[in-house]
Amino acid sequence: MSADGTETHILSVAVPRPVDGLFTYRIPSALLPLVQVGGWVQVPFGRRNTHAFIVENPKKIAELPPGLNPENLKDILSVGEGVLPRDVMELCRWAHEYYAAPLGEVLNCALPAAALGLRNTKKVSRKITSSHPQVELHALTEEQSSALDQLERIRTSPYDPVKPSPKVALLDGVTGSGKTELYIELARRTLAEGRGILVLVPEIALSSQLHQRLESGLGVSVGLWHSAVADGKRRDLLSALRSGELRAVVGARSAVFAPVADLGLIVIDEEHDPTYKQEDRFRYHARDLAVVRSKLTGALVVLGSATASLETRERVREGRYGVAALPHRIAPGGLPAVELVHLGEEEREEGIQAPLAKRTLEALRTTIANGEQAMVFLNRRGFAAFLLCEDCGEVRGCPQCSISLTVHRRSVKLKCHVCGHDELIPDICSKCSGSHLRAMGAGTESLEEELPKLIPGARTLRLDRDQITSATRLEKILGEFRNGDANLLLGTQMLVKGHDFPGVTLVVVILADALFRWPDFRAAERAYQVLRQVAGRAGRGQRPGRVLIQTFTTDHPVIQAIQGTMSEQSFLENERDLRLALGYPPFGRMARLRFESADQEEARSRASNVAEALLRSLPGSGNAVDFRSTEVLGPSEAFLERARGIYRWDILIKSPSVQELRKLVFAARGLCHQNKWHFLVDIDPYGVG
Ligand code: ADP
Ligand code: ZN
Repeated sequence: MSADGTETHILSVAVPRPVDGLFTYRIPSALLPLVQVGGWVQVPFGRRNTHAFIVENPKKIAELPPGLNPENLKDILSVGEGVLPRDVMELCRWAHEYYAAPLGEVLNCALPAAALGLRNTKKVSRKITSSHPQVELHALTEEQSSALDQLERIRTSPYDPVKPSPKVALLDGVTGSGKTELYIELARRTLAEGRGILVLVPEIALSSQLHQRLESGLGVSVGLWHSAVADGKRRDLLSALRSGELRAVVGARSAVFAPVADLGLIVIDEEHDPTYKQEDRFRYHARDLAVVRSKLTGALVVLGSATASLETRERVREGRYGVAALPHRIAPGGLPAVELVHLGEEEREEGIQAPLAKRTLEALRTTIANGEQAMVFLNRRGFAAFLLCEDCGEVRGCPQCSISLTVHRRSVKLKCHVCGHDELIPDICSKCSGSHLRAMGAGTESLEEELPKLIPGARTLRLDRDQITSATRLEKILGEFRNGDANLLLGTQMLVKGHDFPGVTLVVVILADALFRWPDFRAAERAYQVLRQVAGRAGRGQRPGRVLIQTFTTDHPVIQAIQGTMSEQSFLENERDLRLALGYPPFGRMARLRFESADQEEARSRASNVAEALLRSLPGSGNAVDFRSTEVLGPSEAFLERARGIYRWDILIKSPSVQELRKLVFAARGLCHQNKWHFLVDIDPYGVG
């Protein structure tokens, strides 16, 4: 009983920390009426206070779980403002279960601390919503109209909340085919029905163009949801969403949790992009969660891509997802012609770090001389990939990570692209004290220095992670290129994302080979997607485009598919057959268990103990090659065995059944808890990181 004679209530809450389970507190009776599932509270936690999420209803103190002493319970300090919509709450529970991630960490994505007004931020005076002059959309082409009809049929199909199924469609459209235009039209119709919309993009820093197009096309404010948004603004965004004043959000992967009320449409632009997979802490895939949210709300998910993932294609094939196609470009030039430049055979330009064929250089010169623009794509930042000792062959590596350091000539430094370690470029080899150190390979920095000397009239800009330290800076570079201040844009992977530069008629890929030498089963698919996207940057305006891909391996299937000597369809069929034969996604499920320790032997032996225990628990021989059975692979060192001084050993579990997979993951978890071993789970892992 509490002082006023009413019965005391308790509440179990999820804290935003990487810990499993809930924590129980006493509710002061004055606060009881304020407690609602989906809301949050302030509680004492350890020696400090923290916010925590309300995930279940209050209970009477008589229902206190055994083992907890009522005397030891602490009081909730306060109840915060705002509650998550039911679908977001359900989505978080689902993700918590599926990804075996602590509920508090998951909820932290939906209701980030920055948005709660915990830090004493000034109230931002700028209004979140305002009206925008609505720009007339283009009259849709025939192709667009029929794609729209197909998508509309799915969007407006009946939704049964009792037996819900997701509504998902692939919008399979080549680059520049008018997909964005369709997103806007679908969004307009959804908003007109009083429902909310969510647009996900791979990289928010690169999406201000899309944001503008959405606002002007829809005539309403569109909220920007990403981690760089200031605290005060986030809070305003959340309260505008809560009040229904704001009904449209564009953002990066975490926006899949944005509490948009009465959601009617989710667009995932470039659905194949690996940035939709979160690669630290709570490892989720935003595309997959969008499908779950569709099931919870009846919202249509549109997966837009010119190079859809094998996973999505398979769901279409099975008839679980719909599909609408835009096979042609809007621009009259059509898709650009792709030419291969065989670096092993072509005459090369001497005296330049990067491999550059004379033919490629000639094409660049002609383009610039004609007053047109070119993009040059290289897979590496910095000046050169690594520093090699020509006396003993030693490559200078990071002292913390198992990776070589990158030469950054401008700052005269060697840098680690994993942990950020840097050091001055040494004069002598640390191993043999030899003085013949040579920078090998080429990065964007060296090209930026060398290319303008070889191309009369070239005005160069560079776009890579070293350059882009802020969104404004990025905007500036893109803006300068767009309005023609520069005619040559050099960049890394970042160039790939959907920019629309009508002046670009030539795209050069300096070295395609680096892309498919990645030790991962998705490497070929990924290389194909990157090259297709890069090629798609050319010829988006009135003049036709040309794409030159330099490579040493012209007979690689990826290269042949890009060039067109192998059809896209046979390339994809081959990839599919391979995955099917080996039981890889989309035909089987995978989980990666990672063991980390500063002590190499400790990481290895924990992984091997767990692997042995899991193998023993498998029926029959376990390690059978038959893909229909569950397999435990490893332990083996991670691709990057050591990062930031920590060794990483992995076990891979592969199974055709999600249930089987989960059983093993939970068995591993139990074993590790018992022994107090720290380990990380990645369900449906991507890449090798
Ligand atoms: P995607 O998203 O498929 O790359 P966009 O929607 O950006 O393609 O369209 C490519 C270009 O064509 C844009 O400049 C866009 O304004 C223009 N566009 C799209 N649809 C039409 C249309 N129906 N009529 C004229 N221009 C269009
Ligand atoms: Zn490092």
